[in-house]
Amino acid sequence: MFEHYGIGIAKGLTVTIRHLLRRPVTTQYPEQRLNPSRRIRGNELVWSQEKCTGCGTCAKTCPQGSIDIVTSVKVEENKYRVEKFEVDMGYCIFCGLCVEACPYDALFLGYAYERARYRRGELVLAKEELLESAERKPSGYARPEIAAELPKQSLLLDKDRGKR
Ligand code: SF4
Ligand code: SF4
Repeated sequence: MFEHYGIGIAKGLTVTIRHLLRRPVTTQYPEQRLNPSRRIRGNELVWSQEKCTGCGTCAKTCPQGSIDIVTSVKVEENKYRVEKFEVDMGYCIFCGLCVEACPYDALFLGYAYERARYRRGELVLAKEELLESAERKPSGYARPEIAAELPKQSLLLDKDRGKR
């Protein structure tokens, strides 16, 4: 038994040293970030006030009842005015059905994936909070024209192969 003393430790150290010399395949998040899929079902929807007609198709399609729309009629223009467009992201399962159902391409899934909140109430987003901005970009999910403009997805696998 005595002549084998320390062999286990030496084997363990060998493994450690071997990994020390390998190129790391992880990223130093949050300083380094990978590009997600162009068609990511990121958290939070993005809504276009200009395109939305208030037809309500998205709300009727949502299996979770996450979307709440209130409209009034603009008689002079013969169309709806969207008074309230609210999404409870706490119930949303990111199925994308509302995005696919919207006949006017006014709704998008988000490109972001880092929108954790501390409070439940902060997950209920009013229409002003759903608008596109520098921090709130739409995903290319069900929107190929947007997907074509987003950066290519980067993978840890590519980094390991020295492609990044
Ligand atoms: S992605 Fe699905 S669950 Fe979320 S709001 Fe749209 S239809 Fe509802
Ligand atoms: S389906 Fe599209 S156009 Fe109709 S209310 Fe929803 S977001 Fe607006």
